[in-house]
Amino acid sequence: MTGMIIEGKTGNWEVICGLEIHCQIISKSKMFSGASTHYGSDPNENVSFIDAGMPGMLPTLNKECVHQAIKTGLGLNAVINKYSEFARKNYFYADLPQGYQISQFKYPIVGEGFVKIDLEDGSSKNIGIERMHIEQDAGKSIHDISPDKSFIDLNRAGVGLMEIVTKPDFRSPEEAGAFLRKLRSIVRYLETCDGNMDEGSMRCDVNVSVRKIGEEGYRTRCEMKNVNSVKFVMQAIESEAKRHVEVYETGGTIEQETRQFDPAKGISKVMRKKEFAHDYRYFPEPDLLPLVLDEAWIEQIKSELVELPDAKKARFIKELGLTPYDADVLCENRETAEFFEKAAKGHDAKKVANWMMGDFFAMLNEKKITLDESPISPENLGKLVDLITGNIINGKTAKDVFEIMAETGENPEKIVEERGLKQVTDTGAIEALVDQIIAENPDNVAAYKNGKNNLLGWFVGQVMKASKGKANPAIVNKMLMEKLN
Ligand code: MN
Repeated sequence: MTGMIIEGKTGNWEVICGLEIHCQIISKSKMFSGASTHYGSDPNENVSFIDAGMPGMLPTLNKECVHQAIKTGLGLNAVINKYSEFARKNYFYADLPQGYQISQFKYPIVGEGFVKIDLEDGSSKNIGIERMHIEQDAGKSIHDISPDKSFIDLNRAGVGLMEIVTKPDFRSPEEAGAFLRKLRSIVRYLETCDGNMDEGSMRCDVNVSVRKIGEEGYRTRCEMKNVNSVKFVMQAIESEAKRHVEVYETGGTIEQETRQFDPAKGISKVMRKKEFAHDYRYFPEPDLLPLVLDEAWIEQIKSELVELPDAKKARFIKELGLTPYDADVLCENRETAEFFEKAAKGHDAKKVANWMMGDFFAMLNEKKITLDESPISPENLGKLVDLITGNIINGKTAKDVFEIMAETGENPEKIVEERGLKQVTDTGAIEALVDQIIAENPDNVAAYKNGKNNLLGWFVGQVMKASKGKANPAIVNKMLMEKLN
């Protein structure tokens, strides 16, 4: 159990939470028009007559968006409904020129499924997916350019969305955070959504209620709209749950309402009460036929699915001997996992994992570059590890070689060869250096023999320095012990 317990004056409470996530579909054109979905174009550059809600325009369903939705549904281990219907969700807003959103209501394209989440204590849990439907996005209203005017940008109007609704299965902010990270990872692996919460291509609504431990059923929930980071979602759940407990314990009641979470203050405030909730008057979309999917197409998409993070993680643990933690970090995004796999191929996978998660990630951070801009290729990282495991260079030299690779992008074998960095394992050569250091430092030799044991490290350091860092430290250590004792 990883649930969050809130201790109240009247007893212990548990947190109940469900999420609704809007994911923007990756497709070249919009869901019902041929206009581009390109992010960052000039305002209203990508708007067709359909997106602008011109009278008499008819929507045409983009097959690619349906393909992406099926892929995503399969990634959520969910039922793909061979029959689904589009419906009109009616509401008036300036950035919705049609006066309605084409969505799905009674018959969504994707039914029940689940996503496995991994928690910090090493346990895992399945979060139920209630459904996923597809719909069009609205445009954007811009209120901060002029003091007395609002502007409308319809570039986003009509872009395809997948709305994923979970069951109320979350019992802590941590579980919700783990879910969002896993979902983001899945859609990125599938290349169906870029998962960027800060750009709004993945947006999360959070439903929260509380109940006494052991209580059956659910109490009234409140919804917080468009929380735009994993961290804020977790904060919103915690603060909202605590607010509910406080209201109940002081004799109040929670009303069903829509709230807005303010991350700066760490609290939510009311947006609208239930009596002002929209009545969307859904009805079947008369301009589109029901969506009927062919079994063969679904099967074909299934057969083309990439290996997803859970499967990859399990394989890295089983076949490459990684720890669950390392496998988790390396599998969170597909590019990292693929880079690692290339680097580890034919080499010591655990050591490659250590180098990637240590010096390699630190190098990317320091240079502020992405994986595909890395000067160090996966093949060269693997070769570096081979030089260490093969005792060609010692750990200290490996760090220096890594630095040179990060600057020049060169092959580590070439660097070691050209710069003469091979570790000295020749005992004769090492012995000469050991004898020299002992002869030069009679005072320290005497002190060591009188019981200052920690001087051994100093001697090792001197010999390593004399060898320009190339001596094999294990041999140096052993030889010094023999000579000094
Ligand atoms: Mn929606």
